[in-house]
Amino acid sequence: MINSNNENENAANIVPVRLGLSSNFEFECHKGVKCFTRCCRGINIILTPYDIIRMKNRLGLSSDDFLSLYTTPRIWEKTDLPVVTLKLLDDEQESCPFVRDDCGCILYEDRPTTCRYYPIGSASLSHKEGADDEGFYFYVHEPHCLGFQEKKSWTVAEWRKDQGVDIRDEINSQWTDIIVRKRSFPANIQLTEKSKELFFMVSYNIDQFKRFVFESKFLERFNVERDTVDEIRSDEVALLKFGLKWLREILFQDKQLEPYQS
Ligand code: SF4
Ligand code: SF4
Repeated sequence: MINSNNENENAANIVPVRLGLSSNFEFECHKGVKCFTRCCRGINIILTPYDIIRMKNRLGLSSDDFLSLYTTPRIWEKTDLPVVTLKLLDDEQESCPFVRDDCGCILYEDRPTTCRYYPIGSASLSHKEGADDEGFYFYVHEPHCLGFQEKKSWTVAEWRKDQGVDIRDEINSQWTDIIVRKRSFPANIQLTEKSKELFFMVSYNIDQFKRFVFESKFLERFNVERDTVDEIRSDEVALLKFGLKWLREILFQDKQLEPYQS
């Protein structure tokens, strides 16, 4: 996961320490810190597919409404793939729409993966496909964050578990794989616009993908086991995982580089 799509700004904030799962750090965030909610303003947060499912359900919105109300679509230059970022308020501090001065995040239990990782960042999206390690982590060491002055000790693995990002990374793993794989393509190999639309739909608009599967000839064209059909009809996370696996096969034509042509 990356914490910002503004790579210059992000790079300036990162202390270049490469962390592994067993690396130690001291940090705690609570209402008593002077900087409480400071990190929820003036930020760029890329939302993962599972983030969107959790947030739109928490808010009782359809995928379409959540995307139009709370996100900004962008093309992530390094991959030429669409991503969506959290749309900030047009106030002086460019606040996250979900932050409140007195109580912090109003959808805390369903906050995005990047917010959960903070103050750690995961380099999984910039990791090279085929690299012989499991990726790495780094400090997002912004000067305003005073949580590093607290004395609670963590390993990166403990922090990930405590914040629930291990589960989220597992659910989003096929999405991350697609991005890493696309990023490793030579620059002259591009996906078609249709492929990018499919990527957007499966990754960010689960309601539309559900209609695509169940209200088109999808199930006639693709051989999907009966149990899987039953599962993805009622379980959005199963539908997302199924969709991302299907997308990966379609986009890369089962390990070839040619993108899907409609
Ligand atoms: S979603 Fe919640 S934790 Fe994340 S920036 Fe907004 S208010 Fe802060
Ligand atoms: S800036 Fe750091 S310590 Fe302050 S509220 Fe945000 S995460 Fe917590």
